Amino acid sequence: MQIIHKKSTSVETDWKKELTNSFTNLFDLIDFLEIEKNTIPMEYNSFPIAYASEGADRQQTSLIEPNQVILFQTNNTEETLALDKHNKARTLFPMRVPLPFAQLMEKGNWHDPLLQQVVPHFSEFIQKDGFIRDPLQELKNSNNGIIHKYKSRVLLVVKGGCAVNCRYCFRRHFPYQEHQLNKRKYLEVIEYIQHDKNINEVILSGGDPLMANDEQLNWLLEQLSYVKHLRRVRIHTRLPVVIPSRITSALTSMLEKSTLKVIMVLHINHPKEIGEELKLKLQWLKNAKVTLLNQSVLLAGINNCVDTLETLSETLFEADVLPYYLHLLDQVDGASHFDVSKQEAIELMKGLLSRLPGFLVPKLVQELPDKNSKTPVDLSVEN
Ligand SMILES: *Cc1c(COP(=O)(O)O)cnc(C)c1O
Ligand code: SF4
Repeated sequence: MQIIHKKSTSVETDWKKELTNSFTNLFDLIDFLEIEKNTIPMEYNSFPIAYASEGADRQQTSLIEPNQVILFQTNNTEETLALDKHNKARTLFPMRVPLPFAQLMEKGNWHDPLLQQVVPHFSEFIQKDGFIRDPLQELKNSNNGIIHKYKSRVLLVVKGGCAVNCRYCFRRHFPYQEHQLNKRKYLEVIEYIQHDKNINEVILSGGDPLMANDEQLNWLLEQLSYVKHLRRVRIHTRLPVVIPSRITSALTSMLEKSTLKVIMVLHINHPKEIGEELKLKLQWLKNAKVTLLNQSVLLAGINNCVDTLETLSETLFEADVLPYYLHLLDQVDGASHFDVSKQEAIELMKGLLSRLPGFLVPKLVQELPDKNSKTPVDLSVEN
């Protein structure tokens, strides 16, 4: 027993080590990927300014072109405001990229679709009409770490943080600190679920619920298993994609033993995110009888291409994961440069329908406030 316990602890430290070793500085990541600075296109060149303004060292500031320094020293209020916001947003939502995810990126390629999901862009700080801080009005619907918008299922904000900070994230402005759960609050939440017999499924979400350690998750699963009317527990996570060692043997055996049906909904946007180690861990989960699904966000410049989406579905299926949702981007302030129009999304879906069997075509949905489910996008709409 002693030995097993010791082993599982050391395995757990593996992924925690990966968390602390993540890239948080863009320049370190660029160096790791051996990207020539002069291959970074001009349109992105303004972002080092904010790094310089935060007291970056000389080597980093030397990246800045003279015109950018002038931009930084501008008296133009709009630009000054944008930079101000940039700095604020960076502290709230800093760059964060675990090494295993960086290892999946192509060396020397600034345009790598994995890199482009995590790299802060200056355009994040340019406001665009219609893109707002809380597009899903979750703040209105959330209370003490639970979001109960849909009748039969309730979403728990298990952990505020994520292993990776995706720049398009609709939760980038969510005040997690106010909504994280502790044990006492969990018990209140479980009581809430006890009292509402309409709820048959609990979704562990966040942030990323797998940021919680195995012991905490085990406790939570056990508490949930006492609620008679619950049938399923669902885990919405991106962590295994960016740090596959998060799938520990302790985690898989606890999921296997659960009396509730367990579903894991991964978040993968591009086929290149499915590396060898992830594939192996997905087999562990499959053997533990976990139903594996995937949701993606349709992202300009990342996966808005029929070939990419087709390969994604095929690669997912090879790895025993079924596509579930393809989300239209939530109109969140700071993510407008990732937006794909509804019309383009419909065209992409038509392409997928003509190439793939029905079970490999994800449902195109959008999330609108005050609806009692996700809203399917009508593909028959012509323009
Ligand atoms: C997306 C979401 C769910 C889950 O919806 P499904 O259609 O069942 O996948 C549940 N609650 C909230 C608040 C959500 O945003
Ligand atoms: S893992 Fe999910 S919740 Fe976390 S930053 Fe990425 S998209 Fe947002």
